Amino acid sequence: MMESLRSKAKELLQSGDVTTIIGYAAGTKKGKTKPYFAYTPEECEKLIFTPACVNNLVIYLTRKFDFMKKGKVAIVAKGCDIKTINVLIQENQFKREDILILGVTCDGVVDKEVVYDGNTLSDDEKSIKCITCDVNTPTDFDHLFGEGVESNALEPMTGGIYDEVDRVRGLSQSEKWNYWMEHFDRCIKCYACKKVCPLCYCDVCITEKNRPQWIETSAHSRGNYAWNIKRAMDLSGRCTFCGECDRSCPAEIPLNVINQEMSKLNYEAFEGYRAGYQTEEIPPFVSFKEDDKEDFIR
Ligand code: SF4
Ligand code: SF4
Ligand code: SF4
Repeated sequence: MMESLRSKAKELLQSGDVTTIIGYAAGTKKGKTKPYFAYTPEECEKLIFTPACVNNLVIYLTRKFDFMKKGKVAIVAKGCDIKTINVLIQENQFKREDILILGVTCDGVVDKEVVYDGNTLSDDEKSIKCITCDVNTPTDFDHLFGEGVESNALEPMTGGIYDEVDRVRGLSQSEKWNYWMEHFDRCIKCYACKKVCPLCYCDVCITEKNRPQWIETSAHSRGNYAWNIKRAMDLSGRCTFCGECDRSCPAEIPLNVINQEMSKLNYEAFEGYRAGYQTEEIPPFVSFKEDDKEDFIR
C-alpha cells in the first residue's frame, strides 16, 4: 500500500495537479506517527500509512490553516476522515473538486494509550470508534490504496461507545447530573477539544468573547458546564465521531459519550440522519419543514 501511495503522491506533485500532499510520516517516538506535508516528489518518500495514523488530517483543510489557499491539495484519508470532509463540503467550506482524496482502507487505529508494535491490533487495542466503523473501505475517494476491509459493525448506533451512551441514558436524572458534573469538573479549559476538531472552525469562538462573556474563563463548575454543553450543542448533527477531541482531552472527559449521545438523538429525531454520510442533504439544524408541528418555527 505504502509504495503505491508514495508513487501516486509523487506523480500528483510532478504533474502539478496538486501543490501539497497532506499525509502521515513516522513520528519521533517508536510506534508513533505525525501529520506530514509533502511539497516535492522527493518529500513523498516519507509518507506512510499504518494503524498508528490516528490523526484526522481534515483539520488542515479548514480555515484554521492556509493549505487550501496555495492551490489544490491531496489528502490521505481514512473512511472516518472522509465523513468529516463530507460535512465541510455540506457546510460550503470548500468544494469536492478543490481537493483530491487519497483514500486508504483501514481495519482500525490504536487507542490513545496504545503504542503500535507492528502487529495486527486486537479489538482492545483499537480506538473505540473503530469497533462500530462501517467505512473501513472508504466510499468516496479519487484514488484508493490497500485491500478492501469488511466492516464488523452492528446496526447503526449500537455496540462500542453506544453501550456507554445507553448505560448513561438509563441513569436517573440526578445520577446523570452527577455523572456529567463529576467529569466536567475536571475540565481545565485548555480548549484542546476545539483546537483539534475540524468542525470547530469559527473565526472567532464564543470562548474568546467577553462582551458579553458567555463562557467564564476560569476553570470552575459553572463555566466548565457551560463550555462542555455549548461545545456538544455546536457539534450536534455535525460530529462525525473522528474521536479527536476525546483523544486530546488531558482531563479524560468522555467527550465521545456526549458527542455520540447527540448523534444518537439526531438519528432518532431526524429519520436516521447520520453526519458525514452525505454531502447533498441539508443538515437537521440548518433546515426546517413548513408543516413542522412546532408552532415556534413559523
Ligand atoms: S473508524 Fe474506521 S476508518 Fe476510522 S480509523 Fe477506525 S477502522 Fe479506520
Ligand atoms: S480538552 Fe478537555 S480539559 Fe480541555 S477544554 Fe476540552 S473538555 Fe476541557
Ligand atoms: S466533536 Fe470531536 S469527534 Fe466530533 S468531529 Fe469534532 S473532534 Fe471529531
